[in-house]
Amino acid sequence: MSRTVYVNGQYLPEEDAKISVFDRGFLMADAVYEVTSVIDGKMLDFPGHAARLQRSLEAIGMTPPCTTAELKAIHREMIARNELVEGLVYLQVTRGAADRDFAYPVGVEPSMVLFTQAKNVVDSPLAKHGMKVISTPDIRWGRRDIKTVQLLAPSMGKMAAKAAGADDAWLVEDGFVTEGTSNNAYIVKPDGTIVTRDLSNDILSGITRAAVLRFAGEAQIKVEERPFTIEEAKMATEAFVTSATTFVGPVVEIDGVRIGDGNVGPTARRLRELYIAESLKTAL
Ligand code: PMP
Repeated sequence: MSRTVYVNGQYLPEEDAKISVFDRGFLMADAVYEVTSVIDGKMLDFPGHAARLQRSLEAIGMTPPCTTAELKAIHREMIARNELVEGLVYLQVTRGAADRDFAYPVGVEPSMVLFTQAKNVVDSPLAKHGMKVISTPDIRWGRRDIKTVQLLAPSMGKMAAKAAGADDAWLVEDGFVTEGTSNNAYIVKPDGTIVTRDLSNDILSGITRAAVLRFAGEAQIKVEERPFTIEEAKMATEAFVTSATTFVGPVVEIDGVRIGDGNVGPTARRLRELYIAESLKTAL
């Protein structure tokens, strides 16, 4: 079935949607994006995603192409037109089309594209059984706090994981885990404390991360925001990741070493349930 996609003010059948070959998103990855999950036809954490889009645009010297209220209306319209019950809405804003030049063009209209993807985000097999991760060097650029579409390095990490029979890769820099290829990374210490890397230019400030840490705090679970090594992770009682479409995804094996007893742990399970239940209360 053909989806309806949004391109620069128009809702079109996906076959008819077009972006210029001169678009800088295509030529130079000069573009930022957001992914918002949808459950029961409603968006989780939309204000957080809209706020991060603003921060990403500001960081690359672009003015937002529309207001947050307009952005929300377009998202809602996309969910309605595509009759999306569960899955995600993808949004990308590029600097627009111009003659190829490393300098940003002046006076060019940004391009904005949205599409939906149906997906079982609540009942996913990886959430039930946990995922296996490998460690691999973090070869990405130095501004990972900006959510750009430069995703080849994380794609290569994901392919290395697949080749090793694992589900995902944790990226390592200077001996410490930065994050997963498309998620934030956490371990649980034997005393129940959650450890996750502190925010900086080295990682993306996950919208799910912020919510999960807030819910953990409310549930009296201790949190340490600091870097950790793969060695420390292997000795943890639990490990997990967070992202908009994974929510809380348990990790049961790192570089072939079982974490805890190798099963999904109680902290990850509880945080996943908490995240879904609490986020649905404010879903739009
Ligand atoms: N880190 C990276 C590198 C990511 O790509 C993502 C998902 N886009 C995240 C973390 C998680 O962010 P969020 O919870 O906002 O999806």
